[in-house]
Amino acid sequence: MKDIVQKLDLADETAGRLDWLGEFGKDPEGGVSRLLYTKEWVEGQHALKQWMESEGLDARFDEVGNLYGTLKGKNPNETVLTGSHVDTVTNGGRYDGAYGIVAGIIALKYLKKHFGEPVRNIEVVSMAEEEGSRFPYSFWGSKNIVGLAKREDVESIKDFDGVPFVEAMNNAGFDFKNNAEGRKDLKAFVEVHVEQGSVLETENTAIGVVNNIVGQRRYTVEITGQANHAGTTPMGYRKDALYASSHMIHEIISMARKVGDPLVTTVGKIDAYPNIVNVVPGKAIFTIDVRHTDKEAIVSFTEQMTDKMQDIAKEHEVEMNIDLWMDEDPVPMDQTVVELIEKQCEANGLNYKLMHSGAGHDSQIFAPVVPTAMLFVPSLKGISHNPAEFTEPSDLAEGVKALIGALYELGYKE
Ligand SMILES: [Zn+2]
Repeated sequence: MKDIVQKLDLADETAGRLDWLGEFGKDPEGGVSRLLYTKEWVEGQHALKQWMESEGLDARFDEVGNLYGTLKGKNPNETVLTGSHVDTVTNGGRYDGAYGIVAGIIALKYLKKHFGEPVRNIEVVSMAEEEGSRFPYSFWGSKNIVGLAKREDVESIKDFDGVPFVEAMNNAGFDFKNNAEGRKDLKAFVEVHVEQGSVLETENTAIGVVNNIVGQRRYTVEITGQANHAGTTPMGYRKDALYASSHMIHEIISMARKVGDPLVTTVGKIDAYPNIVNVVPGKAIFTIDVRHTDKEAIVSFTEQMTDKMQDIAKEHEVEMNIDLWMDEDPVPMDQTVVELIEKQCEANGLNYKLMHSGAGHDSQIFAPVVPTAMLFVPSLKGISHNPAEFTEPSDLAEGVKALIGALYELGYKE
């Protein structure tokens, strides 16, 4: 195994295929926009189907447009699945999602060539959608595969141009007749993805073996003070909503810095009202995003955070309304699959580290029902969801090698 894997020269092939896939939805100014059920998406999926067929895989779509390429095994009732999402954000990069599909097809090609028929099916999936960029719905592809998608979820939603979800799906050649049942044959899911952060690059490591996907809480905070004349209201008489907010933000971020990794906290959006140069702000609205790999840690941090904010609101004599609108638990990866991948990386002489994912992925939809793990490769400067997204071809190749090793263990061993 090691001899074969080490000898494979996958850098040009993988990078070349990513450039090829990036042509579908390529923006004139650089970057890729391949949103669910658009013309670019349809053309990309059909081109991938042809590629799968040309490598000797059995290719088929499911009813919503997830595309599968199967290397058939002796036992047709068990399947090891790999792959990722084919959709991008608007003006995104060529690697997010796409890399997992390209890596999967190339891995299956070499497994077939060097090891022949596996014990169970090994399958690559090009999932219809993950990003939620066209319609207000995320993980459409993976939720259909595991049986979490419901027709009523999408029946009334529309894109920014007012096109109904179902109409877009029908125009792309697909239809969602029944609530997805969920596949019963899946024995494991391994997703390969670009890190979208800078940990691997900073630590000079080719591969991240993901053992956990962070949980997150998101809040919207509304601070109400009193709008007033900027010239005639002495400092001591003010109820300045923006000043109170900035005090809170300072405290929240300082607290998070003290706690340190893997806790991360972000205030990424703030609006002040009336937002006029010579008026004391009467209202401010901002968001908070808190992430950690441990649920308890999220709960305890956010409790302290809210207490502190309440104290600050009192001090500034402003009203505070805090709304928790997202509360997702961390998702641990399957320990057995993670260890198997670690062993495989060691056996094949690959440079890896265990790490968590700070971003959400299709794997979090699979993990509660299918033994799941993820592999990361470095992202240049941690840049993602951006035309400048880039991974060195040599790192892309290392990720494919790690995937080949993992799929061999999962698909060829009794
Ligand atoms: Zn992605």
